Amino acid sequence: MTPRTITIVGAGQSGLQLGIGLLDAGYDVTLVSNRTPEQIRTGSIASSQCMFDQSLGHERELGLDLWPDAPVVEGIAFTVAPPEAPGVKAISWAHRLEAPAQSIDQRVKFPAFMEVFEARGGTLVFEEAGVEDLERYAEQSELVLVAAGKGEIAGLFERDAERSQYAAPQRALALTYVNGMKPREDYSAVNFNLIPGVGEYFVFPALTVTGPCDIMVFEGLPGSDMDSWKGLTPEEHLENSLRILRTYLPWEAERCTDVTLTDPNGVLQGRFPPTVRHPLATLPSGKTVLGMADVVVLNDPITGQGSNNAAKCAAAYLEGILDHGERLFDDEFKQGLFESYWEYAQHVAAWTNTMLAPPAPHALQLLGTAQGNPEIAKRFANGFDYPPDFAAWFMSEEAANDYLGSFDPVH
Ligand SMILES: Cc1cc2nc3c(=O)[nH]c(=O)nc-3n(C[C@H](O)[C@H](O)[C@H](O)COP(=O)(O)OP(=O)(O)OC[C@H]3O[C@@H](n4cnc5c(N)ncnc54)[C@H](O)[C@@H]3O)c2cc1C
Repeated sequence: MTPRTITIVGAGQSGLQLGIGLLDAGYDVTLVSNRTPEQIRTGSIASSQCMFDQSLGHERELGLDLWPDAPVVEGIAFTVAPPEAPGVKAISWAHRLEAPAQSIDQRVKFPAFMEVFEARGGTLVFEEAGVEDLERYAEQSELVLVAAGKGEIAGLFERDAERSQYAAPQRALALTYVNGMKPREDYSAVNFNLIPGVGEYFVFPALTVTGPCDIMVFEGLPGSDMDSWKGLTPEEHLENSLRILRTYLPWEAERCTDVTLTDPNGVLQGRFPPTVRHPLATLPSGKTVLGMADVVVLNDPITGQGSNNAAKCAAAYLEGILDHGERLFDDEFKQGLFESYWEYAQHVAAWTNTMLAPPAPHALQLLGTAQGNPEIAKRFANGFDYPPDFAAWFMSEEAANDYLGSFDPVH
């Protein structure tokens, strides 16, 4: 039997993982990338790409755990730092993850996955795919997926106004990759600091092109002091990062007395509106292509879920395609494939969008109680690996009250 032909546009987290999974299952896969491995390796950072255990598990299943000695993230620490009282921690706790997380710079990971993809028999094409190219792929293959992340081509997929909670960017984003940061005491973690009215800062160890590093992530409220990145040179960007830490988070500044940039491309700034899109785009010929991962569910990075979503979307699509056997990849199938992913992703989007809004009283109560109640700290920390769990105890006042009540000794 001739293998079924599938083309995937975009060789990032979701495209590479799905492409490799399909190859292993005997499909004929073409991946289209607008960047060569060399361009990716020597280009700018794009993400902080921290992935939790379930997502790493999907990579492990495909033999893609290629960096056994890379730094790991063993826990989550959460601190509320009132801007009017620098040095005061209004809330502060930490808990270990049940299994470690890991961040491999996409500049390291994607070229390596491209090599694996070709070694397992995939066809890698380098071009910036546009509508005419999609028509060509749709002519040549039975299924075309668009996994182009935040690429312009995602604009072919119409925004889903019902499922998109925000229409404008909610944070000014900045990343700073550094060497020389003092490690946390006891165990490595994502140190998440919330500065009400200013933004959030989180930091954790990772592996980049120059070796182990730490990644600083800034989520500035638009117009705040943390929305101050435009037009800076890399050195000025580093200095601004340190200035913010000295101003609001002295305990984090303390870890950074000797930091340097990993490389001149180890900085990033930008902003985008979190957006859910309709999963099918119709080409002028009437043929349809199916979106995946960031193309269809783009979240703000505040909860560090985009790469995790991409891994889970790729796993869900792989399973759905294999289950479909020899049947036609019609629109009903494509829509259904997306809905099977949305079952999961809607919870990630809802939680992430909640974290972008000023915290509700019940959320603050839970996060505050976690300081003296390790069970709550543990549940919040491990929710990063499986955000649908938040619906059961964090997302509504009623669920929070029930959960808090369950610790009451009279129950
Ligand atoms: C500041 C920041 C911090 C983040 N931190 C985290 C984090 O800690 N944890 C986490 O899980 N997620 C994080 N993310 C999100 C995460 O990086 C993305 O969600 C994830 O990479 C999306 O995967 P994807 O497969 O959809 O797209 P991508 O991985 O972005 O891949 C898309 C690929 O398609 C290519 N492409 C685009 N257009 C075309 C075209 N027309 N033709 C051919 N190729 C094309 C691009 O070059 C790219 O290589 C962060 C994002 C940002 C911005």
